[in-house]
Amino acid sequence: MTFKPEADKCIVNRGNLTNLKRFIKRAKDSEKLTVGFLGGSITQGFASTAADKCYAYRVYDKIKKNYKNENIKYINAGIGATDSEFGCARVESDILAYEPDLVIVEFSVNDESDPHYFETYEGLIRRIISHNEKTAVLLVFSVFYDSGKNAERIHRKIARHYMLPAVSMRSGIYELMLEGKMENTDITADNLHPNDTGHGYMADVIWTVFDFAEEDATEEEPKHTLPSPLTENSYAHSVRYKNKDEFAVSLNEGFLPDTREQKEVSDCFKGGWISGDSGDRIVFNIVGSTFAAQYMRTIHRPAPIVKVYVDEDYENGVVLDASFDEDWGDKLSLTTIAKNLPYKAHKIEFETVESFIEWDPDTEELYTKEGSPFMLVSVVASDNKEREIIHLDPVCTHNIWGGTKLREDFGYDYEGDDLGECWGISAHPNGDGVVKNGKYKGMHLSELFKNHPELFNNDGSEDRFPLLTKIIDARDDLSIQVHPDDTYAGENENGSLGKMECWYVLDAPENATLVAGHNAKSKDELVSMINEGRWNDFIREIPVKKGDFIQIDPGTVHAIKGGILLLETQQNSDITYRVYDYDRLQNGKKRELHVKKSIDVITVPAKSAEDSVLHFADTKKDTLVKMYECKYYKVYKADVEKSLEIDLPADYVLLSVTEGEGAIDGDRIKKGDHMILPNGYGKAVVTGDLQIILSTK
Ligand code: ZN
Repeated sequence: MTFKPEADKCIVNRGNLTNLKRFIKRAKDSEKLTVGFLGGSITQGFASTAADKCYAYRVYDKIKKNYKNENIKYINAGIGATDSEFGCARVESDILAYEPDLVIVEFSVNDESDPHYFETYEGLIRRIISHNEKTAVLLVFSVFYDSGKNAERIHRKIARHYMLPAVSMRSGIYELMLEGKMENTDITADNLHPNDTGHGYMADVIWTVFDFAEEDATEEEPKHTLPSPLTENSYAHSVRYKNKDEFAVSLNEGFLPDTREQKEVSDCFKGGWISGDSGDRIVFNIVGSTFAAQYMRTIHRPAPIVKVYVDEDYENGVVLDASFDEDWGDKLSLTTIAKNLPYKAHKIEFETVESFIEWDPDTEELYTKEGSPFMLVSVVASDNKEREIIHLDPVCTHNIWGGTKLREDFGYDYEGDDLGECWGISAHPNGDGVVKNGKYKGMHLSELFKNHPELFNNDGSEDRFPLLTKIIDARDDLSIQVHPDDTYAGENENGSLGKMECWYVLDAPENATLVAGHNAKSKDELVSMINEGRWNDFIREIPVKKGDFIQIDPGTVHAIKGGILLLETQQNSDITYRVYDYDRLQNGKKRELHVKKSIDVITVPAKSAEDSVLHFADTKKDTLVKMYECKYYKVYKADVEKSLEIDLPADYVLLSVTEGEGAIDGDRIKKGDHMILPNGYGKAVVTGDLQIILSTK
């Protein structure tokens, strides 16, 4: 038969077509675009005879051919027998990481029509929409062709609430069967998975919405904004922990990391842990409110029984039975362990209580003919927090006194053996950081500050981002220098800010010193010491070691000495007056000195040496310690061993990782990472084994 689907049958929710129309226009304009498909076995192409016979590929192909655009990238993230709950946990890595322009979602035969899936489907859809409000999203409802069953009733509610176009195989194809116009055997062998013809029909049904959008003449539609959720929204933010996330595991007795390489999205059992024996235990320390275990249920029976306990509640374990009483294959199963606990770090503990085989970890084969080991594929932690941490890509500078630690120890991707400074959190024009993730990806911090004042609670009174965080690696001594205050800089440096700064010493050699202050007792003595070059008399060196904190007020003569690595928190300014540069040459010339301005601004006499250095090397673990507070900033430090809650009374928080690795609210972080928790972010929880330095205005 010829199949001519009718738009008014197939399209069960029109929604707001602005994004889809924009996508079509851009496709016709030959722009480079990415189309992502997220779904279950039908999206994966199960029962089609070739990958290009699958509905997803056919829709992609129609886009290319109809709009005459070869510049379109195809992402198929279909995984058989998986639902929208797993979708929440993988949409970021499998779809959103590719920055798609169109996302097609197909979960209506894998989700049930119940409150749980109503909530997980909503979490998934919100995640996609909030990633980029311009992404076109199209919902596809598959159906069981014998019963007409699917989760369309709840999925349609989500389509309506979020104004998303949706097409249905139930009304587009199944109803024709009811009317006797089509036989189910024409398009499917198992009443679920379409054959090649069925996949073709599916693509035709989906295409009706493209034709409809193209012909639709509505000029202006209301702007797409994210409405309040319909559910408790427990799956708004969902993170998967796998064996690469070593920091998330606090104890492991016998769960062996499965290191086999995952080749494609649907090769989905890899990257977790394998337990072969009774008594094996693995404990996770992870942040969230709702937790689920993802494991393989296998037809290679018998398979082990595992119990999961939350926060040492050994009375109420959840039982995971890895045996799968089917014959079509192994299943990636997701079982809820706990729901809506308080948002904090929780202990999730797995224990293999019954194993039926002697599993040899050195074997190539996962199964033996006696049965199978337990495969814990991942642990998923979810919560209802939707705000985003702003991760920044820092800017490094080349300096005559710089070294190699910024590349070698911190992993910044910069060439050269003269890397002096990493401007980790900076909106300064000399090193304006770029947002690495999420909906502001690619924006400079200065633009973000200007265009999104709400993220900084800026009522317009601030014309620039006020702070700057640097990591400084001094292979050699820095010049002896001084900074002006706001008043002097404002008058003499084109309205620039002055510079208050402070240092936290990350590393220092034995007997290290820094220059902080000077020995002149009066302005006259200062002038003569400088003019006569009596540097040894003038400069005051003070001993420092790892973990020391030094506040440098404007007017303080200072210099970082060779061998010292430190984190600097400062006002957003780059005004430095060089008093003395050891007569060093750069490209054959001495660097400019600013003797007159220096003399203008140096404070006489200097603050005492004892008052200049504070010690914070061994602060209490998992505790946020305030190191300093002044008019411009407050600076904190924490050594995290298990978990730390951050809830500072500030509009926004600057955070840098100076040691180790872990996660903040599930975002992986490691030494050298810099980020901002924006205004209204609320409590953040850090887990892992790491040191962080924070600052607020
Ligand atoms: Zn300085």
